[in-house]
Amino acid sequence: MRMYSESDVDPSCLQGKRIALLGYGSQGRAHALNLKDSGHDVVVGLRKSGNSWKRAQADGLKVEEPAAAVRGAAIVAFLTPDLVQADLYQSVLADISKGAAILFAHGFNIHYEQIKARKDLDVILIAPKGPGGLVRRQFEEGHGVPCLVAVETDRSGNALNLALAYAQGIGGARAGVIETTFAEETETDLFGEQAVLCGGATELVVAGFETLVEAGYQPEVAYYECMHELKLIVDLLHEGGLKKMHEFISDTAAYGDLTRGPRIIDAHVRKNMQQVLEEVRDGTFAKQWIDENKHGQKKYRQMMNADLNHQIEKVGADLRGRMDWLEN
Ligand code: NAD
Ligand code: MG
Repeated sequence: MRMYSESDVDPSCLQGKRIALLGYGSQGRAHALNLKDSGHDVVVGLRKSGNSWKRAQADGLKVEEPAAAVRGAAIVAFLTPDLVQADLYQSVLADISKGAAILFAHGFNIHYEQIKARKDLDVILIAPKGPGGLVRRQFEEGHGVPCLVAVETDRSGNALNLALAYAQGIGGARAGVIETTFAEETETDLFGEQAVLCGGATELVVAGFETLVEAGYQPEVAYYECMHELKLIVDLLHEGGLKKMHEFISDTAAYGDLTRGPRIIDAHVRKNMQQVLEEVRDGTFAKQWIDENKHGQKKYRQMMNADLNHQIEKVGADLRGRMDWLEN
C-alpha cells in the first residue's frame, strides 16, 4: 500500500491556478470552503435556477454558471450526483481549457465509461472516505478525513501532484491519502455501500426488528434493540475495532456474538455478497442504475417509498421524538 502525507505534496503546482467545482451538495460545499480557506482561487459552477446558487454566494464563494466557471480552470471537479455528470461534462466540454485536469470524488462515470475524457485532459480522483459534513468539520478543527487518490490519465505528467495538492487543500493529506485506481475505488465503494454499509446494515436491522415483532414482542422494544443500539456498537468499532467492542460489551454478549454471528452471516450470505460484487464488476449494477435514471427513477422512488413507510420508521420517529438529546 502507498500512502501519501502532507510532506509528499507540492503545493506550488496549484499556486495562482483556478479550481472550478461543479455542484454544491454534500462534497461540493465542503471541498469549496476548505480549498478557499487553504488559500486557493475557487469558483463554484451552478445553474442560476438551482437552490445551491444563493447558498454558495452566502458562504462567500464566487459562483458562475458551469460553462463560465470551468473557463481557465486548472482543475474542474465534478461534484454533482453521479448520474448527471455525463450530461454536465458534455455541456461544459467546449469551455474546459486545453490540458486541464478533470477530478472526481467517485470513479463511477470514468470506470463505466459514461464520460470518455478528451485526449488532452488529465483524469484524477480524490475520494474522501466520509460525507461532506465531516470533511468540512474535521478541516475546521485542524484535522482531515482520509482520502483515496487515483490517476486514470496523466497527459500533463503532473496529474498525481495536482491531485495531491487538491487533497491537501481539502484537508485530506493531514490524515493520509491512499493510492488506488478508478476501478478499485469504484468497485469497492459500490460493494461496500450495497453489501455492508447501507444495504446490508439496514436489511439486518429490519430483519431483526421483524423477527422480534412477528414473535410477539413490542415494536418499541424491538426498535431499541435492533436500530437504536446499533450506534453504540458502531462507535466502538469505529474507535477501536473488534477489540474495543469486546472490551465494552458483556461476556454474555461476546459469547453470543462469537457463536451466533457466523450463523446469521453464513455461507449463503457470503455467496450473495460474491454475486453482488460480480454485478458491480461486470457492469450489471451500473447499467441497471443508468437505465433507472433514463426512465425517470420510477422504480427507485417506489422502493424508496416502501422503505420509508415501514413500521420501524413510524415506531422510530415516535421514540426519537422523546429523546431530545438526539440530533434529528
Ligand atoms: P449531492 O447530491 O449532495 O450534491 C448535488 C449538488 O449538485 C446539488 O447541490 C446541486 O448543486 C448540484 N447539481 C445537481 N444537479 C445538477 C446539474 N444538472 N447541473 C449542475 N449542478 C447540479 O452530491 P454528493 O453526495 O456530494 O456527491 C457528489 C460526488 O461525490 C458524487 O460523485 C459522489 O459519488 C461523491 N461522493 C459522495 C460522498 C458523500 O458522502 N455524499 C462521499 C464520497 C464521494
Ligand atoms: Mg434497505
